[in-house]
Amino acid sequence: MRGADPTAAYGGAMDASGLPLLDQRISDCRACPRLVSWREEVAREKRAAYADWTYWGRPVPGFGPADARLLIVGLAPAAHGGNRTGRMFTGDRSGDVLYEALYDVGLASQPTAVHADDGLELYGVRVTSPVHCAPPANKPTPEERDACRPWLVQELRLLRPTLRAVVVLGAFGWQAALPAFTEAGWSVPRPRPAFAHGARFELDGLDLFGCFHVSQRNTFTGRLTPVMLRDVLRTAARAAGLPVAGG
Ligand code: SF4
Repeated sequence: MRGADPTAAYGGAMDASGLPLLDQRISDCRACPRLVSWREEVAREKRAAYADWTYWGRPVPGFGPADARLLIVGLAPAAHGGNRTGRMFTGDRSGDVLYEALYDVGLASQPTAVHADDGLELYGVRVTSPVHCAPPANKPTPEERDACRPWLVQELRLLRPTLRAVVVLGAFGWQAALPAFTEAGWSVPRPRPAFAHGARFELDGLDLFGCFHVSQRNTFTGRLTPVMLRDVLRTAARAAGLPVAGG
């Protein structure tokens, strides 16, 4: 059962101007006691390699323009990645893989993402996650996933005027995102479409794509190859009406 809606006091305008406020409100959220405690503990104790960093230690909002045509939905920030840098997929190996691929297909200004002020820009793409706080062992509980969903619902409503395609990374993100699309007003079939790499479904003018997550477990083992990732991103970018580079 879901607890109190963390977006209840959000109150932003339902147009592109509302997204910066939404991002700010997400960054202040403390709705999940276990995750608040974990993200702050990690930020205090740090990894030795990042001892001179001041960790973000807060929820990580989505990253990318308010008029994005393509949305990429991950799982949750990494303890020493987004939870350290304060930007989605920034400062960890998953992000290295994702942003290099986005750059290769013409959707990012540079192939690297190391800190929040590194100049990276995304072109027509926004990156978000259904859970905004780093969870222990990268595993939010079902209650935490459900608690965070209203933030994604609000983000989807704000993006809806321009949004044309979505890439969901991994089965967890898929399970978490589909109910959010329903709550944000899209007609998602029941039973809900199953996750698969390369899956493609149409929801009221929105193309929804499944892609294996860019986690080290998938990329190191070859379950998700650079070619597979770029193929999905190119197909989704074309579906979104974005210009695509490299094939
Ligand atoms: S996971 Fe989401 S709902 Fe929970 S504290 Fe973080 S931002 Fe708030």
